[in-house]
Amino acid sequence: MTTRSTLRILVSGASIAGPVLAYWLTRHGFSVTVVERAPTPRRTGGHAVDLFRPAMTISEKMGVLPRIEERATGTSRMTLHQESARRPVRVDLSKIFRAASDRHIEVMRDDLSEIYYDAARDDVEYLFNDSITALSPDGEVRFENAPPRRFDLVVGADGLHSNVRRLVFGDESRFSTFIGAYLGVLTLPNVSALDNELLIHVGVGRTAGMYGARHLGDARALFLFRSEHALDYHHHDVPRQKELLRDAFDGLHPDVDDWLDELDRTPAFYFDSITQLRMDTWSQGRVTLVGDAGYCPGPAVGGSTSLAVVGAYVLAGELARAAGDHEHAFPAYEHAMAPHIRGTHAAALSATKTLIPTSRLGVRGLAQGARLISALPAGPSRTLLRLTTKSARLYNSMTIDDYPPSQGRDSSATDPGGAPGPE
Ligand SMILES: Cc1cc2nc3c(=O)[nH]c(=O)nc-3n(C[C@H](O)[C@H](O)[C@H](O)COP(=O)(O)OP(=O)(O)OC[C@H]3O[C@@H](n4cnc5c(N)ncnc54)[C@H](O)[C@@H]3O)c2cc1C
Repeated sequence: MTTRSTLRILVSGASIAGPVLAYWLTRHGFSVTVVERAPTPRRTGGHAVDLFRPAMTISEKMGVLPRIEERATGTSRMTLHQESARRPVRVDLSKIFRAASDRHIEVMRDDLSEIYYDAARDDVEYLFNDSITALSPDGEVRFENAPPRRFDLVVGADGLHSNVRRLVFGDESRFSTFIGAYLGVLTLPNVSALDNELLIHVGVGRTAGMYGARHLGDARALFLFRSEHALDYHHHDVPRQKELLRDAFDGLHPDVDDWLDELDRTPAFYFDSITQLRMDTWSQGRVTLVGDAGYCPGPAVGGSTSLAVVGAYVLAGELARAAGDHEHAFPAYEHAMAPHIRGTHAAALSATKTLIPTSRLGVRGLAQGARLISALPAGPSRTLLRLTTKSARLYNSMTIDDYPPSQGRDSSATDPGGAPGPE
């Protein structure tokens, strides 16, 4: 008989979804191992991500909200230049954030990852610098480095290009939908001397922004551009990706040229298509997926970090509710997440249209909408934003069940599914 405390769960990926899931699984009395390809836990860096109301509530329950608030990026102003317009639009960004959601915080992804990792590091076994190479239906897992081991359940929390998803469900191309845009991010010195400010240049089909974080010495430049067709490049061919970025932003503004000049010196560069992951079901046998691995609405456009936090909390909660019986828990988890996923996927498509306008009218609309919202008092601006964006409505209206942790970690609840016991 397998009890919760002996039910062994392997999680692949230690960024956002992985550590949040590991935290809640241990609080519900399960035994957790996390395997992460990177050699160490993530440290300050990456890009800025958003935590909206439900993810903030979950973080509060984990007791980590004060640490997250301490690390908030502090970006409170935006200066928006429209291509060929003489005067920029200055916007009170904190007002837009407040209008967008009654609870929101922006934080660097690696700060957030570190905070979530710290929350349960003593209760979880972490295997860094490793990756799963094979999963067999009887629970045997093979790794690149560690010897084979047996687990009762396996969860892929390994991001948009998930390894677990590939091993269990097949090639990524079966599930990913290109939504007509690309994304590039680079780390650079704060060449535009920004202080709590987002500087953004918008043209037809292309948007570039730069921001710094209060506690980071450097800054990030983010590039979003449209392309009707998938571009021709290999995902390891970084010089080609940089060339595509230079071509797409040629002539937008001298600020943007300065940011692009840093491409040859940047210590960190990211380039990818904006892809939405659509799966009818993301559980098979003893394996399921969480976060971007299972249902990414699109990086940088869909609030996917909040969705990853919510997904991890719900999955752990449903496993606890079903006393570890994955045959009940996985469908319940998918059922609970389905409306949130549908909503965020639709919101991401709408955000992509707004953020990367397809016409001059769209560029003006983005600038004027931002100016209007920041000029109005909080109440009317929130109403306006609710009328114009899907994400705001969505995150404010998301309701998530409460899954209180078990009384005592060592619950003796049985697994009715009769999962094979540890070796
Ligand atoms: C450029 C960019 C900008 C973004 N901007 C925003 C934003 O503004 N707001 C927002 O909410 N979200 C944003 N996102 C999305 C956000 O980063 C993700 O939604 C969030 O990090 C999802 O967390 P995750 O844990 O599901 O996956 P990820 O953060 O992708 O983490 C996956 C983890 O799995 C590990 N891994 C990968 N392969 C393996 C393997 N084979 N074995 C073991 N481990 C593996 C990786 O090293 C990583 O640690 C952005 C993403 C990008 C790329």
